[in-house]
Amino acid sequence: MPVHTIRLFGDPVLRTPAAPVETFDKELRKLVADLTDTMMGAPGVGLAAPQIGVSLRVFTYWVDDVVGHLINPSLDLSEDLQDGEEGCLSLPGLSYDTRRAQRVVATGMNMHGEPVVIEGSDLLARCVQHETDHLDGVLFIDRLDPVACKAAMREIREAEWFGQP
Ligand code: ZN
Repeated sequence: MPVHTIRLFGDPVLRTPAAPVETFDKELRKLVADLTDTMMGAPGVGLAAPQIGVSLRVFTYWVDDVVGHLINPSLDLSEDLQDGEEGCLSLPGLSYDTRRAQRVVATGMNMHGEPVVIEGSDLLARCVQHETDHLDGVLFIDRLDPVACKAAMREIREAEWFGQP
């Protein structure tokens, strides 16, 4: 399966809310396979379809040796929060403390159109929230407080990859 180029901050596809998947066909299964290969090649703990230029509500994850995917996710978040470093393959080199819900129950579908539930805490919960944000055109730097967000924007403007075609 081909490994795709990961779209970087500045690419409008990362700011576009992705469309729900309606057709669970061969093409969708190929998208999941491509996302998985691209994520593992990076390597990264998660990858959302918009990050390879496909504006559909699909993401893959790779946490604690478990590789999976979720389509059309809907999240139920715990009230308790976690703090921890977060980064993104679309923002290479950046990592900032990002507050997230400690636990998540994510419902959605697998690539065969069957309903699935993913329950996770810690890193898996963080990953699921981060990837679902991508499907809404939201990036982790949007979750930072204004001071940290400003620092992140400065770091992005100075990054070697920023503004490259
Ligand atoms: Zn990301």
